[in-house]
Formats: sequence, C-alpha cells, structure tokens
Amino acid sequence: IKNEFKLTVDSKSVNESFCRVVVTAFASALDPTIEEITDLKTAVSEAVTNSIVHGYADTCGKIYITGQLLENDVIKIKIKDKGRGIADVSEAMTPLYTTGGSDRAGLGFTVMQSFCDRVSVTSSLGIGTTVVLTK
Ligand code: ATP
Ligand code: MG
Repeated sequence: IKNEFKLTVDSKSVNESFCRVVVTAFASALDPTIEEITDLKTAVSEAVTNSIVHGYADTCGKIYITGQLLENDVIKIKIKDKGRGIADVSEAMTPLYTTGGSDRAGLGFTVMQSFCDRVSVTSSLGIGTTVVLTK
C-alpha cells in the first residue's frame, strides 16, 4: 500500500458530495484524467447513496470509507455500512432490480460495474454491506 485514508461519516445526503470530494483529492496524487476521476466519483457516489437510502433507510448510521493506493496506480475504495444488509447480492446487482420503488432506477450497481474495473459486494441481513471498488 502506497497511501491510505479512512473516513467515517453519518448517513446523511450532504455527505455524498463530501465523500466525492475526499475521493477526488485522494486520487489526484495519481494525476488522473478528468474521465478517470468522474468515473470513480460516480461509482463512490452510488455506493454511498445506497448505504444512506437502503442500508440505513429511515435511521441514521455511520458509513466507513477506506481508500488505498496500491502498486501500479490501482485505487481501491471500500464503502461499508452496518445497515439492514442485502438478502441476495446477485439478485440486487441485476440491472433494473430495485426495492426502492418508482423513484429508483435499479442501476446503481450497474453504474459501479461499468465505471470500475472490479466491484465486489458482501452483505449479511441485519449486519450490513461492504462494497469494494477497484480502478
Ligand atoms: P438507483 O441506484 O438506480 O437509484 P437502486 O439503489 O435501487 O436504484 P442499486 O444501487 O443497483 O439500485 O441497488 C439495488 C438494490 O440493492 C437496492 O434497491 C437495494 O434493495 C439493495 N441495496 C443496495 N445497496 C444496499 C445497501 N448498502 N444496504 C441494503 N440494501 C442495498
Ligand atoms: Mg442505488
């Protein structure tokens, strides 16, 4: 690991942009293209939003974000919540699948996958969800 940050924020929507800014600043050390930064910000934003709206839904909890800069300029961002969890991860990751009703598109995981090289999701009902994005 060449560099690392850890950040804990409340599950409030104001913190979505805060997380985006932190991740952008962290990744800037690599002298990335605008496109690379936009991709990473978008993916992080989707994961943080999911923790807020699905993980903690009506409650407020903590979101734990870790960023690592690895060899070969690989960036790994982990977004973890201790919210309600996902019963079936592969079903949840299916494009257009949503439990969010008509105000959600069910495309968050699809966006993360298309903007990152690797997306891994682990989750347990009642324990929480961890998303690891690699780019
Ligand atoms: P969109 O992201 O397009 O607004 P969405 O959030 O429903 O819609 P995804 O981000 O792909 O779509 O997530 C799919 C489903 O996975 C969600 O509807 C929710 O049921 C579940 N989910 C995702 N993240 C979490 C999480 N952190 N905690 C609990 N459930 C989650
Ligand atoms: Mg989503």
